[in-house]
Amino acid sequence: MEAAVDNQKTVNAPDRPYTLERTRNIGIAAHIDAGKTTTTERILFYTGLIHKIGDVDDGNTVTDWMEQERERGITITSAAVTCFWTQKQGKPGEDAIYKAFNNIPHRVNIIDTPGHVDFTAEVERSMRVLDGAVAVFCGVAGVQPQSETVWRQATKYKVPRIAFVNKMDRTGANFDNALNDMRNKLKAYAFPIFLPIGAEERFEGVIDVVNQKAIVWGAGDITNEGLNYEVKEIAPADKDRAAMALAELIEAVSNKDDRIAELVLEEKPVTPQELKAAIRRLTCKIELVPVLCGSAFKKKAVQVLIDAVVDYLPGPLDIPPAEGIEPGTDNKVTVEASDFNKFCSLAFKLWTDPYAGKLVFFRVYSGQLKKGDTIYNPRTRKRERVSRLMVIQGSERKDVDHVHAGDIAALVGLRNITTGDTLCDEDFDITLEPPTFPEPVISMAVEPKTKADRDKMSEGLQRLAEEDPTFRCFTNEETSQLIIAGMGELHLEIIIDRLKREFKVDANTGAPQIAYRETITKQADGEGKFIRQSGGRGQYGHALVKVYPNEKGKGVEVLNKIVGGAIPKEYIPAVVDGVEEAIKGGVYAGYQVIDIKVEIVDGTFHEVDSNELAFKMAGIFALKDAFKKANPILLEPIMKVEVTTPDEYQGDLLGDINRRRGTIIGIEAKSGQTVLNAHVPLAEMFGYATAIRSLSKGRASYSMEPLTFEQVPNSVLAAILDSAKSKPAART
Ligand code: GDP
Repeated sequence: MEAAVDNQKTVNAPDRPYTLERTRNIGIAAHIDAGKTTTTERILFYTGLIHKIGDVDDGNTVTDWMEQERERGITITSAAVTCFWTQKQGKPGEDAIYKAFNNIPHRVNIIDTPGHVDFTAEVERSMRVLDGAVAVFCGVAGVQPQSETVWRQATKYKVPRIAFVNKMDRTGANFDNALNDMRNKLKAYAFPIFLPIGAEERFEGVIDVVNQKAIVWGAGDITNEGLNYEVKEIAPADKDRAAMALAELIEAVSNKDDRIAELVLEEKPVTPQELKAAIRRLTCKIELVPVLCGSAFKKKAVQVLIDAVVDYLPGPLDIPPAEGIEPGTDNKVTVEASDFNKFCSLAFKLWTDPYAGKLVFFRVYSGQLKKGDTIYNPRTRKRERVSRLMVIQGSERKDVDHVHAGDIAALVGLRNITTGDTLCDEDFDITLEPPTFPEPVISMAVEPKTKADRDKMSEGLQRLAEEDPTFRCFTNEETSQLIIAGMGELHLEIIIDRLKREFKVDANTGAPQIAYRETITKQADGEGKFIRQSGGRGQYGHALVKVYPNEKGKGVEVLNKIVGGAIPKEYIPAVVDGVEEAIKGGVYAGYQVIDIKVEIVDGTFHEVDSNELAFKMAGIFALKDAFKKANPILLEPIMKVEVTTPDEYQGDLLGDINRRRGTIIGIEAKSGQTVLNAHVPLAEMFGYATAIRSLSKGRASYSMEPLTFEQVPNSVLAAILDSAKSKPAART
């Protein structure tokens, strides 16, 4: 194996097999059915990791491990797979910049991102640890509503992207439409670097715009050795189109890149090398999206896609360093990618593997970790010894002894780790900002079919909640019912399914309920006292808090601002516990509180009577007191709904959305159909599938996903508060 060479002195340890320069951590992000699984599969095939090509339709692909994923054909859980790619000698555009890489493999870690709307948190979680992404679009459908969500998430986490317009072989495939969609709907600065030659069943090849060559596939070319295409001169009929695309690409790049702008101004030729380097610079800065096209299914353009991943997507050194904070302070800490820095990594995925047991997938930002080392978890303040490390290569689990900066690997057998935890050296006290997860929007009560299974059920639910931060489960104190909450009915359905398969518990479920939330709209002060003095030893806890509305989506922050020991140090955690308990249980109508900042500011204590319980109660009372004075409001989940219908039903469907308290955002004509976009409260969406069917004689369809939480209007508030009082079962 090649020893590390690039930039060795500064960041690469001499014993690492692949340098940071030659590491790519990428995700393949797509709307469900756009071809993400097929594309991943083909990449694993061409990188030599799997020897038989699996088709999604046969249910034997490598990344789809879970049984019900196979059945449903959707990838629910992300898996990280490692593969290696050597750019081939003699490939078009071989040039000085990349020559050094030729014949030296790149290590490409693919973090599989799920495509279904109910699992957007999984997408968010994987985005956090990616350096770049391939956005796969369907060449027929173009930009679909969920592609927009995935795109927005990639933007939020500042993930550079290249776009792959897939399914060019399918009837109705239209590259220009997909490109225009990207520009109009995603506002992407997107320019083709590969143009299709032919489409549908006559999709024969692509024009390499940068090098002005044609890449053409033959038949029967399924081999994982060598290239599966031929490089030819561009056919006369395509010459103009190719030249125009190049001129357009150069102009687009020169608008944003000084070096190319200079060449253009001086009327000097822009060489393919210069152009590629500039495309790479801009892509890494998220200022340009190079667009490719192909057919993963027909194995066309998969190899050039992997080349583009290596050529244009950033390695860990090409993006800004990760940032974290020193726990308990606001001090920012940056983590430079280097083997010679302290060890720092993020646990981004918990996975129960049928063979290896509990795996914790983690991304190393800096430093190195060896088998036998001890890692430190700043959240729990606990140390654990690393007894086994593993990487997933295709369907194989491979033990490794040593991981480096930029790597993605799995820890085996660790106990106290949850998704989002930072794992680092003990003398490097840092918390990498955990990913933010959307709040669950729906909840339901569950009980085991057989009473004896109750313990098994709650244990199973706890395990699943550890793996998936958008899934929550807890016991309702008043009714003792088990409640589960998640991102949609399908999400909860899958949880119930997993409970049955993995934990062998059959469950009965109640009707789904809306997960309302509470928050406040102004600052207020609150006081809580828990004082009992009835002879003997009493109770004494007393705390004062300030509450502030927090920015939307920021969640709950509880800060200790006590100075001078007004409450002794050992009782502060008890006050925090009390505050957090009150926040969970809700104050206004019994729903969880979000987006609030709480400061514990003052209090008093008693030498003899003070204890933890008394301070916890004081915390609860103080929070409740402040909350009630801070203009509390109730929030409801709002869904983004897209309805596609033949024109004639538009009026009826619009009327129906209005009756559901919906707001119409846009009406658009698309391929002979009308597309209605609306924001509608989830509470009004129950039964929508039936309604839309009857209003359109079964011809309209819709999709929806959680968008935000908004204040419940007064017109419906009273009814919700009433039913909250009478039906406390499924509140969250
Ligand atoms: P995912 O949901 O994004 O993972 O998509 P899949 O990879 O499961 O693909 C969805 C469906 O589209 C499957 O039936 C695939 O066989 C099919 N498919 C994927 N890529 C292509 C392609 O390039 N051309 C054609 N014709 N079908 C494709």
